[in-house]
Amino acid sequence: MSLSELYQQLILDHNRSPRNRGALEAPTHSAVGHNPLCGDQLQLQLQLMDGRVAEVAFEGSGCAISTASASLMTDAVKGLDKDELDELFAKFHALATGDESSDKLGKLGAFGGIRDYPTRVKCATLAWHTLRAALHGELGATTE
Ligand code: ZN
Repeated sequence: MSLSELYQQLILDHNRSPRNRGALEAPTHSAVGHNPLCGDQLQLQLQLMDGRVAEVAFEGSGCAISTASASLMTDAVKGLDKDELDELFAKFHALATGDESSDKLGKLGAFGGIRDYPTRVKCATLAWHTLRAALHGELGATTE
């Protein structure tokens, strides 16, 4: 199996059975994200404890790419503090839109091929923009 096939499997798997789907009982941060280009909707909740992500959950409806991206993102950010989250956001954004290589990003590298499909880039980055809006805004922040 080639690396790109492996990445495709990963995206299909996370779309079929998304991780961290649902709602938190006591979120400290939340945001709603919307990608009008594709119709993807995302609601993200975070619970920060001692400055680190203790719990994270998302709900929403969207295409396979946006759902898989939200699932993989929520897996990747647990335990990180704000600086680490900003750093990971920057790396993922560079991966999806520029020339960051995918090998430093583990499973998130699955989205390295998305830059060849400019109309889908926003599907892959929606969860990350929503994460950023949640972290830097109030409860109920929005990406728009
Ligand atoms: Zn989409």
